[in-house]
Amino acid sequence: MTAAISLHNVTLSYHRHPAVHHVSGQFQEGIATAIIGPNGAGKSTLLKAIVGLMPTPDGMVRFGKHKAKDIAYLPQQASIDRSFPISVLDTVLLGNWQHSGWFGGVSQKARAAAEAALIKVGLEGFGPRHIGSLSSGQFQRVLFARILLQDAPLILLDEPFTAIDTRTTTDLLHLIDHWRYEGRTIISVLHDYEQVRNHFSETVLMAKECVAWGATDVVLTRENLQRANVMAENWLENAAICHRDETPSTEAA
Ligand code: ADP
Ligand code: MG
Repeated sequence: MTAAISLHNVTLSYHRHPAVHHVSGQFQEGIATAIIGPNGAGKSTLLKAIVGLMPTPDGMVRFGKHKAKDIAYLPQQASIDRSFPISVLDTVLLGNWQHSGWFGGVSQKARAAAEAALIKVGLEGFGPRHIGSLSSGQFQRVLFARILLQDAPLILLDEPFTAIDTRTTTDLLHLIDHWRYEGRTIISVLHDYEQVRNHFSETVLMAKECVAWGATDVVLTRENLQRANVMAENWLENAAICHRDETPSTEAA
C-alpha cells in the first residue's frame, strides 16, 4: 500500500496549548479512513493542518502522488453563511473555480456538470433555489455536489453527518462508497461507530495523541475507546486545576 498523506510527529498548538501531540501515521491511497475521538481530541485541527489551514513545519505533513491543492475539504459545520444571496447552482459551481479561475467565467460545460452533480445527490431541479431555503440535509447534499464537481483525488470531510437526517446520511454514505470505488482517498471525522465499521476500512482514534491507528476492527475496541475517554477526562481535570490556580491571583489584583 502507498501513502496518500503521511504525518511525521505532528504537533499543533493554539496559543502554545497543544491540540495535537506527536501524531505519526499514514493515510493509505485509495482507502477510506475515519478519524474518531472525544470532543476536543484535535480531529478538526489535524484536518486543518493537512489542508494547509494550520501552519506546520516542513516535512511534518507529506503528500504522496497528490498535493494539498488536490484536496476537496468540507469543514465542520459548513462555513458558508446561508443568508448570503446565492443560488444552489452557483454554490455547486464554486467547486469549479480552481479549473475556471476567479475571472474565467462559467462555461456551459461547467454548468451542465453542476446540474449533473445535483441530480447525483438527489436535488434535481434545485439549481435556481436560494441556499437559505434548504433544510440542513439538503444543504449538505449541495456541498457534496460541490465536492463531486471538484473531482478531487483526496477528500477530507469533518463531521459530515452531524445533525443531518438519516435519509440524507444514507445517500451521502453511498456517495462516499462510490468515491472509494473510484479509487479516491477519503478521510472523514465521524462519531457514529456503525458508519465507521460499515464504510471505513481504516480508523484513527485520537485523544490529542493518537491512541490507535490501523484496521477499523482492530482500532474500534472497547479498551481503546475507554482509553481515549479517560484521556479526555484528564484534560478536563487539568483544566479545572488551572482554573482554580488562577482564581487567587485574580482576587489579589
Ligand atoms: P475536535 O475536532 O476533536 O473536537 P479540535 O481540533 O476542534 O477538536 O480542538 C482541539 C483543541 O484545540 C480543543 O481543546 C479546542 O478547544 C482547541 N481549539 C480548537 N480551535 C481553536 C482555536 N481556533 N483557538 C484556540 N483553541 C482552539
Ligand atoms: Mg471537530
